[in-house]
Amino acid sequence: MSNPPVENVVIIGTGCAGLTAAVYSARSNLNPLVLEGPLPGGQLTTTSEVENFPGFPEGVDGFQLMDSLRRQAARFGARFEQAQVRSVDFAASPRKLVCADRTVLAKAVIIATGASPRMTGIPGERELYGGKGVTTCATCDGAFYRKMDVAVIGGGDSAAEEALFLTRFASKVYLVHRRDALRASRIMADRATSHSKIQMVWDSVPVAVTGVPEGAVSGLRIRNVRTGSESTLPVKGIFVAIGHVPNTAPFSSALDVDENGYFVPTGGSQVRTKVPGVYVAGDCADHVYRQAVTAAGMGCQAAIDAERWLAEHGG
Ligand code: NAP
Repeated sequence: MSNPPVENVVIIGTGCAGLTAAVYSARSNLNPLVLEGPLPGGQLTTTSEVENFPGFPEGVDGFQLMDSLRRQAARFGARFEQAQVRSVDFAASPRKLVCADRTVLAKAVIIATGASPRMTGIPGERELYGGKGVTTCATCDGAFYRKMDVAVIGGGDSAAEEALFLTRFASKVYLVHRRDALRASRIMADRATSHSKIQMVWDSVPVAVTGVPEGAVSGLRIRNVRTGSESTLPVKGIFVAIGHVPNTAPFSSALDVDENGYFVPTGGSQVRTKVPGVYVAGDCADHVYRQAVTAAGMGCQAAIDAERWLAEHGG
């Protein structure tokens, strides 16, 4: 079998970071290859209205924003292919990306694989995930819970946003948080706690999802951490919104990651790694800001660094 072609730059991931890197690399005439994973467009495609991306005074739909960004990258020559990287050989030159069905060779690599929703791990959650009542995406699944009671687990901006979105459909939304104050930004917290359809369930941790024998969620069993008492919320839908896990596993033996799995950039840069010509960008390398605009900024930095590195090293 003949060797695959050596790409100038391969960008892994099509969220804000990956697509911004693609726009910059494509405009630098590098003809980038963008590998698209299991969630094309990244996390913003699972959100509703994005109100804080600069340049959209009326807000913008997350899916539309990502679609625009993708078309912008394609306009300058970025090529898109479906492929999930399983492992890498960064000691090799060109760098080697091993995917399920082929190996991709690249002079420079930008990893922008983002992060995936964290799950609680309580009994019943896995069994009833996806179409049976447990989900991580209100935008995707909210409409299925018209006139029903649902619960959202979490206390951050995602939980507040999911709860607010669900008020469009559900009769009642329980927002179950393990402490007595939300982590969410002030504006989101105020909106959620003052909404007539949202009932705050403070100081409570989820214990089990009920309904496994019936094959559909019938309730969320919770425990009050102050009193120790347990009760069951009679809900048909459970939306888990407790943060994310970075998608760095295929690269973690080749690059530095911290104790939570996030890439640790090197040399005072946000995007450079210890491997020359290999860069990281977006939520896979940022546990602090995790915003669409900061991910886009990192994608831009990575693309500029990759372009300069290629110019110096025979790109
Ligand atoms: P997050 O800020 O990390 O919040 C996770 C929440 O889940 C916390 O309240 C945490 O509780 C709780 N939690 C974690 N593990 C848990 C467990 N095992 N059981 C029960 N509860 C658990 O995550 P996020 O809400 O996904 O937000 C991530 C980032 O995206 C943030 O920077 C956020 O500002 C941003 N974001 C912004 C917007 C917006 O501006 N519209 C929307 C969504 C997300 P504790 O509070 O006790 O730690």
